[in-house]
Amino acid sequence: MRRTVIAGNWKMNMTPSQTKAFIKELSPMVKGRDKCDIVLCVPFVDIAVAAEAAEGTNIKIGAQNIHFKESGAYTGEISADMLKEAGAEYVVIGHSERRQYFGETDETVNLRVKAALAAGFKVILCLGEVKEQRLAGITDEVVSMQTKLDLAGVSEDQLSRVIIAYEPVWAIGTGLTATPEQADETCGVIRSVIGKIYSAKASEDIVIQYGGSMNDSNAAELLSKPNVDGGLIGGASLKTDKFTAIVKAAN
Ligand code: PEP
Repeated sequence: MRRTVIAGNWKMNMTPSQTKAFIKELSPMVKGRDKCDIVLCVPFVDIAVAAEAAEGTNIKIGAQNIHFKESGAYTGEISADMLKEAGAEYVVIGHSERRQYFGETDETVNLRVKAALAAGFKVILCLGEVKEQRLAGITDEVVSMQTKLDLAGVSEDQLSRVIIAYEPVWAIGTGLTATPEQADETCGVIRSVIGKIYSAKASEDIVIQYGGSMNDSNAAELLSKPNVDGGLIGGASLKTDKFTAIVKAAN
């Protein structure tokens, strides 16, 4: 049975003190909700505070990016060792905002995925089509290609630490959500690509989240779909009550 993973992506929100207060408030609200894994992917400067605040709770902490070199002249980047020591266990890679605004490509996403896995992280790999691609009817081709390119060189053993977040770009932060049927269908396409690249077992085991304006009102229906194993949640992860409602929907 696949685990359901509910992960918050805070993007560029929350200071360290806000992080501490948030986790203090959230942890009793989600206590005992153990039918899903709960992850908060926070800004770099919040990781250490978040990890400390989450100690002894069922909340895990993740970062929102990682560099593929161990160290060196890469101003503004962050290494695996830095993230590990700060207390991150997960890392989001390839978010559409990184692809859209910061020049991230499938090639650099793949380098980051491989570096994160080699360093022992659990990876939340984001991919998904833009609006024009959905309208042109090429969503399946786009997500299939991204899955292949982003996971190139990743072994089946390493794949057990990869979660794929299917995030239609047109649904992120827009209030537009893919219908449960669209989410299920495209997550199913990604699952079948995993079956082709790896094995039937890998395709059965891989956790595939949906992300894109998931909230307390639509989570239950999206999560009820067989190919949707959780959610990557932006806006609604910044409010303890909304995030808790999504966690409850997964329980
Ligand atoms: C995201 O940041 O990955 C996301 C899905 O954002 P939102 O839930 O705000 O659409």
